[in-house]
Amino acid sequence: MGYREIKVTTHSHTQMINITGQVREIVSQSGIISGVCYIYVPHTTAGITINENVDPDVVSDIIYVTAKMVPWEDGYSHIEGNSAAHLKASLMGFSQAVFIDGGKLVLGTWQGIFLCEFDGPRQRKVLVKIIEG
Ligand code: ZN
Repeated sequence: MGYREIKVTTHSHTQMINITGQVREIVSQSGIISGVCYIYVPHTTAGITINENVDPDVVSDIIYVTAKMVPWEDGYSHIEGNSAAHLKASLMGFSQAVFIDGGKLVLGTWQGIFLCEFDGPRQRKVLVKIIEG
């Protein structure tokens, strides 16, 4: 088995997009009852994280704090001018792994999986690979 791809169109410069539903769908279609689901972003200015999916203020606050931690302009060297996006993507990381049990993702009640866009809007992809076991 290879991997599946989720296409995501981002609409803002900085945005966290809940992709939990699409990942759940891939897990469900796989028919795998027990295993691990890897979620990987093959980009350098977008990351992937797991956090609260209920109160949207949590996402807003994460975006707010990361913008304070990593200002867009700060005398960076990178000629493309988007060093802050590269740095924030590295802070979030480029992959997550979630167990699968009973054919379902083992996420906490409040947890969702988010693609983190830091240099949008763009077309992004998220790769999902499921390992049975
Ligand atoms: Zn760059």
